[in-house]
Amino acid sequence: MQGNKAVEEVLEFIWSQREDGKNSVKELFSIKEVAEAEADTGTLERMRNDGLVMIDGDCVTLTPSGESLARAAIRRHRLAERLLTEVLAMSEDTVEENACSFEHTLSPGVTESICTLLGHPPTCPHGHPIPRGECCARVKDDLRPIVVPIDELAVGTNARIIFIASKSHARLDRLGTLGIVPGSIVRVHQKRPAFVIEIGETTLALDPAIVKDIFVRRVG
Ligand SMILES: [Zn+2]
Ligand SMILES: [Zn+2]
Repeated sequence: MQGNKAVEEVLEFIWSQREDGKNSVKELFSIKEVAEAEADTGTLERMRNDGLVMIDGDCVTLTPSGESLARAAIRRHRLAERLLTEVLAMSEDTVEENACSFEHTLSPGVTESICTLLGHPPTCPHGHPIPRGECCARVKDDLRPIVVPIDELAVGTNARIIFIASKSHARLDRLGTLGIVPGSIVRVHQKRPAFVIEIGETTLALDPAIVKDIFVRRVG
């Protein structure tokens, strides 16, 4: 069953606030806080009747079924953001608005296909974790990812960098000064003992931790 938009926005709000460390101990939200951010009290009341939240006095918490719906909604939202930024090359300000309306129309099957095509990205463009889906654990032969971590490529493969899933600004800056940015074309020069890529005329050995963060698409 596809939930309704207002309900999903409330679930996403609670999930992401919690992720930011707010109320991490008690995981409680006041009705006022939730209602001001995403909903009216009617929506919350309906969510309680549907068994998605518990309301105790002025506090709101997710029930286990609310929790699993929130997880699915967050996953759709962040995959939608990835899709819009990486594949459709939308700018940041238009992404948020579009991701918010588009995510609610994604069926579980479509969500898995998007995840697979994007190479099961671990984070959204803002660096927030994307909850894993069944597709992420399973190797599917029928649908080959178009975007993969660079370490999955064979030596000699040319690839375009699609995104770098790192939250570390220092690391991104350092990669940027080396020309390792989305859009760059690189070639896998060797994989062992060190992972070495060619970029233009330069060869570069990459830190193993960085290699897993660089997502690419094969070219040529
Ligand atoms: Zn995001
Ligand atoms: Zn996946």
